[in-house]
Order: sequence, then structure tokens, then C-alpha cells
Amino acid sequence: MKVNFGGFVSISTVDWRGKAVCTVFFRGCPARCYYCHNRELLTGEDLRDIDFVYGLIEASSLVVSGVIFSGGEPTMQPEALMVLLKRAKSIGLQTGVHTNGIQPETLRALIEERCIDHVSLDLKTTWDRYNNLMKGSYCNDVKISLNLLRDAYNEGHLPELEAVITSIRGFECEIEEIVAQVTGIPVVIQQGVLPGEIPLSNDELRNVAKKLNIPVRIRSREEGEYGIEGDRCDRTTGKRERGVLTNSRK
Ligand code: SF4
Repeated sequence: MKVNFGGFVSISTVDWRGKAVCTVFFRGCPARCYYCHNRELLTGEDLRDIDFVYGLIEASSLVVSGVIFSGGEPTMQPEALMVLLKRAKSIGLQTGVHTNGIQPETLRALIEERCIDHVSLDLKTTWDRYNNLMKGSYCNDVKISLNLLRDAYNEGHLPELEAVITSIRGFECEIEEIVAQVTGIPVVIQQGVLPGEIPLSNDELRNVAKKLNIPVRIRSREEGEYGIEGDRCDRTTGKRERGVLTNSRK
């Protein structure tokens, strides 16, 4: 079996919060988000034997506790992904996937096989803008993925789930609506970095987060990842209590 391979990081401390993991990048993604930061992985072919990729993971397993599959979009290669996840689990690694959610049946199969411990689901925008942003008809599949991942998480079949929302300057106002789409899932607001544009500062990201009624985590280049308790709004009186920073990993 071959993997259309995009790269490998032998130790990463930023791909799974609180863990040192290795990260495998799969090549290929059919979407075309304008802010994609891995454009060089969207197309092309670099076919490697699956044993080669497993060998990289196995060598890293001496110093990491888990493996993340990212991309590109790893669920576009379902057979190879399933095999590598199972082999990684067989040597005691925890396993995670970063996904855009456009392949719900692959995610369903991975959960049914109990071979993933962690999913980071990218949520791009509000549902009405989804297909336009990704340049394709993906919105319904992402909704299906969101629902099945949430069910698996709530039923204890998926130990960790997070919805990752990339915050781009000029689109901060969308975040409240996107968060409303993902009730019941831990949310991470990630600083979007676009060439030639000034990313939102941490103060701006904190202000966005504090307006939400839920605790969220912020991920930025300058400050790493930290938690924010969102404003609490009393539904009967309408009174707001200001959000607070809960912990920082500066
Ligand atoms: S879904 Fe992810 S990998 Fe694919 S184009 Fe969008 S940001 Fe890039």
C-alpha cells in the first residue's frame, strides 16, 4: 500500500495540546481555502510505501506519546490512514487526526474501529459561507462530520474532540455565529496568519473570546495556547460578567 506523502515532523509540541507527538502530513486536499498555510501539500504526488511511513512513526515512538495525521487532508487516503492509525496504536501511541471534515464516512469508520483518540475539526466559517470559502460543495458533509464526532465524543467513543476556528482580521464578527454551530464541543480560536496582512493581536483575540458565553482556548504564534473563560450572560437579567484568562502557556 502507498501513501501520498507530504512530510514528517519527528517531535512536535504544538499539534496536540499537552503532548509531545510526531506528525505525519498526507499530501492532497480538494478544497481551496484562501488562507491555507500548507498550499504546497494540496496537490502533487510523492508515493511512499506505507512501511516507510510506519518506520518514521516507530522511530519517533521512543520519544513521543502520540502521532497526529495532518495534511493536506488525511481522510482523503482512508485505507492508509486506517492502517497507520492501527499500527501506531499497536505500539502504544495515542492517535489523532486534524481534519476539515469533508469525509464523514472515513471519520465514522475510524471511530467504529476505535483507532482514534483525538480529532481537531477545522470549522472554516458560518454554514452559509462554507462552500464559497472552501471552493466546493462541502458544507453538508462537514455538518455530518460535526454531528457524528460530537455524538462519539459525548458517548465516550472519542476521548478528545476540539473545533478549531481560524480567526482572520475582518471576519471576527463571524465567530459568535460559528461557535453557536458547535455547541457541546471544546472550541479553539486560532490566530489566522495571511501573507501581507496583520494577524489579530492577542488582545484582539482575547476580546473576541471574552464575548462568547463559553470557555474557549486561544492559539497564537506569540503566546502559544491558553484558556479564556468567556463572558457569562445571565439569561434572565441579561447581565454580563466579564471573561477572564484562565491559564497561560507563555
Ligand atoms: S481544507 Fe485545510 S488543507 Fe485543504 S485547502 Fe483548506 S486549509 Fe488547506
